[in-house]
Amino acid sequence: MPPSFSLYLHVPFCLSKCGYCSFYSRPLAGCAAAPEAWLAALSREAGRLSAVWGGPIPLCTAYVGGGTPSVLSVGLWRRLNRILEGAFDFSGLAECTVEANPCSLTDGHLALWRGSFVTRVSLGVQSLRNEELSWLGRRHDAETALAALGRALSYGFDVSADLMFGLPSSRFPFQTLRTWHDSLRRVLASGVGHVSAYQLTPEPGTPLGKSNPSLPDGYSPYRFAQWYLPRKGLEQYEIASFARPGRECRHNLAYWRQENVLALGPAAWGYLVGGRGGAGFRYRNAPTLEEYGAAAGARLPVAGAERLEGRAKGIEAAVLGLRTKWGIDTEAFTARFGETLTGAVLEVLRGMPPRLVRFEDGRASLTPAGMRVANPIWAEIADLRAEGTDTWKNTSNI
Ligand code: SF4
Repeated sequence: MPPSFSLYLHVPFCLSKCGYCSFYSRPLAGCAAAPEAWLAALSREAGRLSAVWGGPIPLCTAYVGGGTPSVLSVGLWRRLNRILEGAFDFSGLAECTVEANPCSLTDGHLALWRGSFVTRVSLGVQSLRNEELSWLGRRHDAETALAALGRALSYGFDVSADLMFGLPSSRFPFQTLRTWHDSLRRVLASGVGHVSAYQLTPEPGTPLGKSNPSLPDGYSPYRFAQWYLPRKGLEQYEIASFARPGRECRHNLAYWRQENVLALGPAAWGYLVGGRGGAGFRYRNAPTLEEYGAAAGARLPVAGAERLEGRAKGIEAAVLGLRTKWGIDTEAFTARFGETLTGAVLEVLRGMPPRLVRFEDGRASLTPAGMRVANPIWAEIADLRAEGTDTWKNTSNI
């Protein structure tokens, strides 16, 4: 069967920069020409990709993230769609998600997306408490977020809401279990089929990270979400993801299963399988608009790549599998990576307290309690790494 690909497209613009965000994006204000330059470079990169492939590239899933894709005007979106339709084959597409911000999402966007290949909208809600939204520096309030969720649903999209926990609990605005419950409850009441729950993290280099804030460990709200959401019909299928049956994000499965993901746009990441000896390549595009614009054209704008093979690839597959409810299929894992590594991974997992890991139907997976302490479990598996990874290289020939 010919390979098919997932696509991650990075839109590097936002209305303004949130103090906690480490994703690459630029505030749109004051750089009106930048989207034009980005679109021109994107057109060159997409054209180059399809030339390498020899025609439109068959896609099974796509994800347009950022940044904030909904800050692009409807006119820019029309041009973006034309570029994508020229370079990619959407006939086998199972899902295409677009990230949106409640304060920039319009009926114009939704109508255009509905008439194209978009199937799913992921809204950055973060909270439905105005004092928390204001502390986070978000430009929307709860009412705007609920209206955006309702509008996206009314156009027939699968809709996901991002929510954030781990905000300060000991000084104003106080995120408590009561306010967290309130946000979860009202988001579910809107009718969404998918919730992503992320912990606020002070990333190095961001204003929040530099301010060295004292933040709670997030254990209680995470545990509450694990208790509450399944009772409302949303199963936890990944460390941060909860969905009603059939509403899981298929695109993310491609990452967790080490399948082909093409990168498009500045600072986008991709992964390609099929190197000699079963190696995989994780690669990243040029990290800024300027570098991306200069690089996209005669060659692909790849800024670096990591070759994953053998033991290192297997360890990453184990950790990625353990992010999900499906865990590690031990027979399939043994066929891919051999008995020695499978035995080593299972030995680590069997050494854990039984309530953290479940062994069932030929699979090893983390229980909800295990997901709450996933980092040290993954770290023990990562410690098995001894060989097999080439570190980042500047490369233009992958
Ligand atoms: S809107 Fe989203 S991508 Fe943009 S700065 Fe805020 S968190 Fe980051």
